[in-house]
Amino acid sequence: MIDQVEMMKTIEKLRGDAVVVPVFRANIAWSRVTNNVKRDIPVGGAMGKGSSFALGLALAQPNTKVILFDGDGSLLMNLGSLVTVANKAPKNLYHFVMDNGVYATTGGQDVPGVGLTEYADMAKAAGYAHTYGFDDLEDFVTRADEVLNQDGPVFVAAKVVPDIRLPEERAAGRQRRTPEAVRDLLEEFATVR
Ligand SMILES: [Mg+2]
Repeated sequence: MIDQVEMMKTIEKLRGDAVVVPVFRANIAWSRVTNNVKRDIPVGGAMGKGSSFALGLALAQPNTKVILFDGDGSLLMNLGSLVTVANKAPKNLYHFVMDNGVYATTGGQDVPGVGLTEYADMAKAAGYAHTYGFDDLEDFVTRADEVLNQDGPVFVAAKVVPDIRLPEERAAGRQRRTPEAVRDLLEEFATVR
């Protein structure tokens, strides 16, 4: 099992000017490592829609890499998006699924299919250009450059240690939200046009 913060440190080093879309608990982890918050768009609330949102972003900005940190529970709510992504085949989309086996935001309940379902196999069958499954940090670090420097759509399923939200975190203050992040990024894309 992989510590997702350690995994994300490697991705941050390789991100360049990629836009990063982290959902739910991945956003907590990513917020600890990101060096370009203006190019981060956290997606919460619209559970399951991270993959659809990232696909739209990748299609709208084909010259910008889009790195999505999806969740297993989230992807399960939008499995059809695997087929949609494969069909549209954006070369700039890198779809990570942080497979922790639980709904970490709501207290750690098991997701269906835990220990049984292999998301990388599903993405491969859907037609993604490249698919990977990792359960060891060193293996990922060794291949991270390859993963992130090839045409997509790329899919990575990572078995990660659950980071279950504690009840007191709910009162700990709000994080940057999707509408603010979208507004900031629109300004940036308008500037580079
Ligand atoms: Mg999960």
